[in-house]
Amino acid sequence: MTLDRLEAIKKEALEALVQIKDEAGLRAWENTYLGRKGEFNTLLRGVKELSPEERKAVGSTGNAIKQELIQAAESAKSRISAAVPTTANDVIDVTLPGAGTGAGHLHPITRIEHEIEDIFVSMGFSVADGPEIESEWYNFDALNFPPDHPARDMQDAFWLGETWGKKKYLPRTHTSSVQVRYMERHKPPFQIIIPGCIFRNEATDASHEHTFHQFECLVVGDQVSVANFKSVAETFFTAFFKKATSVRLRPSFFPFTEPSFEFDISCQLCGGKGCPVCKGTGWLEIGGAGMVHQNVFEAAGYKRNQYQGFAWGFGLTRLAMMKYKISDIRLLMSGDLRFIRQF
Ligand SMILES: [Zn+2]
Repeated sequence: MTLDRLEAIKKEALEALVQIKDEAGLRAWENTYLGRKGEFNTLLRGVKELSPEERKAVGSTGNAIKQELIQAAESAKSRISAAVPTTANDVIDVTLPGAGTGAGHLHPITRIEHEIEDIFVSMGFSVADGPEIESEWYNFDALNFPPDHPARDMQDAFWLGETWGKKKYLPRTHTSSVQVRYMERHKPPFQIIIPGCIFRNEATDASHEHTFHQFECLVVGDQVSVANFKSVAETFFTAFFKKATSVRLRPSFFPFTEPSFEFDISCQLCGGKGCPVCKGTGWLEIGGAGMVHQNVFEAAGYKRNQYQGFAWGFGLTRLAMMKYKISDIRLLMSGDLRFIRQF
């Protein structure tokens, strides 16, 4: 009886094998007919319960059939792997150009940031960093902003709705928020730049954006002067624009510097002669600067009048626009690939 059944399984298995066209099918077939739990092997294992004569016949025939099936599976395997490339879709034309790998590239803002960092690092500066969500203390209080200063207003800052303990938080409105954080952990002298993203609650147009990049420069030591600032700024802009650039200061006011000034650079287009871009003045407004207010040093835990320092900041985004002649600031953070791919 067992013998008949083994022969029947062999017949069925060989018929099924002819129909198989792929490796998955072959694996399923092997599972069914040669698998440990398949009927065939189960029968072979049951051989010890048969009478001695039957046991001998079933044993030898069963093993012969098993070898036959293994052989058949082997030849089916070579048949399948040889057959694969014959369908038109699978033919590989090695002369075709390769598919693009879709590698990205750096955003223009990131490229400008790297360029700026390289110039300052070559001048002996370190690059510092701080959180984009900042406490009211580091963003305003420690920088000598009076409690009623208009910059704290809803018009200028995006305040987070929740408070943690008594502290209020906001996406930082300037990279100056890192000044006191850095000073708390470092003893002068030091010279750092702080590139980063900042956030302002304002209406957007071609030259205004709510999210943009700025960088901050902070130099603190025993004897740091406005002349040092002017020299560092001129060296930087000359290296950045690869063109002799002068810097001009105008008196201004910021809570965290005293004295404070706005600074202009000589127009990159006309070299100072006057043109439509600089509105005939020969100068371009570029940022704000000043000598660090002693109240800021005190907030950082330094002794009053022990150190001097200058701080200045300006829009990295604006610099990128000048360098690449971009007329609308909103393009930079639009995520529009048609724009980004031009760089
Ligand atoms: Zn000009």
